[in-house]
Amino acid sequence: MKYNKIFKKVNSELANFENLGNVASYIPELCNVNPSKFGVHLTTIANKHFNFGDAVEKFSIQSIAKVLSLTLAYRIEGENLWQRVGVEPSGTPFNSLIQLEHDLGIPRNPLINAGALVICDILITHLTNPKEELITFIRKVSGIPTIDYCSRIADSEKSVGYKNAALINLMKSFGNINNDIDEVLDFYFNLCSIEMTCKELSQTFLFLANYGVCPFSKEIILSRSKSKRINAIMQLCGFYDEAGDFSFKVGLPGKSGVGGGIVAIHPNKYSIAVWSPKLNKKGNSYKGIKFLELFTTETEVSIF
Ligand code: GLN
Repeated sequence: MKYNKIFKKVNSELANFENLGNVASYIPELCNVNPSKFGVHLTTIANKHFNFGDAVEKFSIQSIAKVLSLTLAYRIEGENLWQRVGVEPSGTPFNSLIQLEHDLGIPRNPLINAGALVICDILITHLTNPKEELITFIRKVSGIPTIDYCSRIADSEKSVGYKNAALINLMKSFGNINNDIDEVLDFYFNLCSIEMTCKELSQTFLFLANYGVCPFSKEIILSRSKSKRINAIMQLCGFYDEAGDFSFKVGLPGKSGVGGGIVAIHPNKYSIAVWSPKLNKKGNSYKGIKFLELFTTETEVSIF
């Protein structure tokens, strides 16, 4: 497939659409990004690289990192994980409190904030140095030793993290958080602060396009069955209350973050990362989704 040619074509089609939406403003540091940035990087499982625009500029991957903490927790806990967090799409915004009370403190899935907080709690229980061990794991999965947290962004989010504090307190009241609330929140804010370029992001997620095996190192990150299940969760929950629309228009499992990044994978083919900071009302990258919609329309291949 001539991906570079397709990228150029899709980009010229994009000129017909106004880049709507706004950069996330509820985390002060995220406002400091140039809203017109736009990058794409696709890595095939045969290690071929294709890119467009600002593909080697770092950005805050935010909630995309939830898939990586979930991967580590799933390796450690296996199927026991699902006693603490569900696998159902939420149909609500990423930081919603409403369902959590009805569901007695069990989050609908691990990709909404409440679910990711439970995953952080589980990792803290199992790991001696959670922050260090998580970033070491992510470096191994990606094959990129320089990937790191951004303390500026973590601190910025901590200074306004009222909703996440409310979510974790509610879950603690139901007995679904075992560790100290501040420790879990600190770990969660650091998780969300991880920075990557589109190239690094697409490379990091390639194991999920390759049935759990990192195609570079040949290391088994997850079993085939667990890898398929993570993809199923991304398909149904990766875009919160826009997951149906993303599935309908793009047709790939993926995950978004409020930094404007999106990663999507096509099993047995590729992993693609897109970055455009302006978000739609659901908190997902407006132009990123539009690009992927036009891309899978142009290639005429999706998982369906
Ligand atoms: N760190 C962000 C938050 O907790 C992550 C949200 C997101 O990327 N959707 O609000």
